Amino acid sequence: MKWETVIGLEVHAELSTKSKIFCGCSTSYGSGPNTRVCPVCSGMPGALPVLNRSVLEYAMKLGIALNCAITKNSKFDRKNYFYPDIPNAYQISQLYDPICRDGYLEIEVDGSKKKIGIRQIHMEEDAGKLVHMANGTHMDFNRCGIPLLEIVSNPDFSNAAEVIAYLEKLRETLLYLDICDCKMQEGSIRADINLSVRKPGSELGVRTETKNMNSFKAIARAIEYERERQIETLEDGGQIFQETRRWDDEEGTSYGMRSKENAQDYRYFPDPDLPPIQIDDTWLSKIKETMPELAYQKRERYIKDFGIAQASTVVLTVHKNISDLFEAVALKSGQPIEAANLITGEIMRLMNNANILPEDLSIDTEKLSTLINLVTNGKINRGAYKETVEEVFTNNTEPEKYISEKGLMMVSDDNAIIEAIKTVLAENQDSVTDYKSGKEKVFGFLMGQVMKKLGKGGNPELVKTKMEEMLKA
Ligand code: ADP
Ligand code: MG
Ligand code: ZN
Repeated sequence: MKWETVIGLEVHAELSTKSKIFCGCSTSYGSGPNTRVCPVCSGMPGALPVLNRSVLEYAMKLGIALNCAITKNSKFDRKNYFYPDIPNAYQISQLYDPICRDGYLEIEVDGSKKKIGIRQIHMEEDAGKLVHMANGTHMDFNRCGIPLLEIVSNPDFSNAAEVIAYLEKLRETLLYLDICDCKMQEGSIRADINLSVRKPGSELGVRTETKNMNSFKAIARAIEYERERQIETLEDGGQIFQETRRWDDEEGTSYGMRSKENAQDYRYFPDPDLPPIQIDDTWLSKIKETMPELAYQKRERYIKDFGIAQASTVVLTVHKNISDLFEAVALKSGQPIEAANLITGEIMRLMNNANILPEDLSIDTEKLSTLINLVTNGKINRGAYKETVEEVFTNNTEPEKYISEKGLMMVSDDNAIIEAIKTVLAENQDSVTDYKSGKEKVFGFLMGQVMKKLGKGGNPELVKTKMEEMLKA
């Protein structure tokens, strides 16, 4: 009998607010350990937390984007546990009345769509870091109080492909909302995988939770590993224990860290230091008005308004930087299709070669628009266009200056072209005879010779028509 896999995700996203969630400390990296701390985030007695309003608004935005209901009376709770990375011995989080509930995210895998339920989104503070050294373990509280959103899905996934599609779409949403930089390697977005297996139709099986994957690839591998481990254990007559497992990407295995705690184990209770949060309709509608256009909405608009092919819209929205670039060039040049072709083709190729990530791309949109107009107005040919785009990409050169210096302006002057053709035909009498006796292939060779004489600015279309005329004569 076959086994069915059931997966639910808990994703933590670090928010890109300027200051921490309950104090004025900066969220930026840098400087030494414990340089971004104050009495509030280092748990000093008597220091009181105050909620950063931006954190709440970011949470509302994500909730709206993920089709959630926004909780009008939301509260913070203390999650109690002792570990040296949390100076208060509790984490401020939300359990009973999280800010968002009951949403969904629609994913698409191999052409079929599926809605993944979002059980809740809650706000919480991050914990610090323990640094293990030869002389002992040190505590760095810089990360304490960094704002997090935890996005908890329903157990709606049945394989790794669905999980990756969900994470990609969630990442895209966070980036377009501009609330998280989503650098997985740096831990600004982290996913915990809850997985169980069962026989089709039976109740949910016992699940494990796997942590510590820092790439989509690692997540897919961890899912495969855990699925097989559970099936093997059960088929051998064994039992699955509810536990937290740690993924080791080098080994390609995970190992049990601790038996999994339940919410009861943390003795959650409402935080007495933070007043309940009240959100009225006016505030909510204000936030709705400031929602930026999301990636999937952009894709729909590019198809509808610009006639861009579906596959290209996917490339154009891989990152906000790319869609911003596309929109600027499309607008300035007035030629969206050319702009799309340029970015999905040449620019992507140049980025790949230079190993530049979309988030690090910066290129002058004015210069690209100028080039698009030069090529479509017949002032330069496609070869010169490509060459100059590369020059702008690598050296930010002034396109017109480069074109005139390199003599790339298209020669559309009839006399110059006729002269060049005359010379070439005179120099290649044999080919001309061949051509006239029906060997039409020779035409390409003669074209090449004329283009060589004209330099990089030769206008191939004009050369072609003129030479056809002259050969007939
Ligand atoms: P906890 O209170 O231990 O965090 P939750 O009920 O909050 O557990 O669930 C955490 C995550 O685990 C959710 O994403 C949920 O969808 C998922 N989950 C719950 N039960 C199962 C199961 N039997 N198999 C797979 N995933 C599950
Ligand atoms: Mg949980
Ligand atoms: Zn602080």
